[in-house]
Amino acid sequence: MITLHKGDLPGGLDLGPSVAVDSETMGLNPLRDRLCLVQLSAGDGNAHLVQLRPGDAAPRLKALLTDPKVLKIFHYARFDIAMFRHHLGIVTTPLYCTKIASKLVRTYTDKHGLKDLAKELADIDLSKQQQSSDWGAETLSEAQRAYAASDVLYLHTLKAELDARLAREGRTELAAACFAFLPHRAALDLAGWAQEDIFAH
Ligand code: MN
Repeated sequence: MITLHKGDLPGGLDLGPSVAVDSETMGLNPLRDRLCLVQLSAGDGNAHLVQLRPGDAAPRLKALLTDPKVLKIFHYARFDIAMFRHHLGIVTTPLYCTKIASKLVRTYTDKHGLKDLAKELADIDLSKQQQSSDWGAETLSEAQRAYAASDVLYLHTLKAELDARLAREGRTELAAACFAFLPHRAALDLAGWAQEDIFAH
């Protein structure tokens, strides 16, 4: 089931100890483009979509994203958490990123998109048709809502498989260190180092 909420999560909603999170925005520049939608799933097949307008304070959403007891699972967390930092004023933590995990274990490919990952690890076909659409619209279409939900519905499944492979390859600790660094990577992006790898020679 997909539930749409306006402005914030409803009170009394418990999504458990690990929540899949994604966001949809007006574009790929966190400094320019506003945050329109935040999708969440407990990994139970249901998705909660929070539609945001400029100025929405969303205190319950922010509390969840910063709750130290709730792991937030993203695919390419770097972008979403930079958006959250800039537009909601929060540091999202603790984190897990399926894209980083994929890069640490699927060294035999350079295809680390969510669609590729879902296909290989869970045999799920994800449509990316609504990826580029007007997420700032007052009313989101059925197709937009279904697409937005699909980006969070399978992240728990992918995480389970990626965790097994990280353990197999002895890279669990390295992955954890990368996830812990992500808030700083997002801060660097917002501070002007988006295009530069400061670790490079
Ligand atoms: Mn998405």
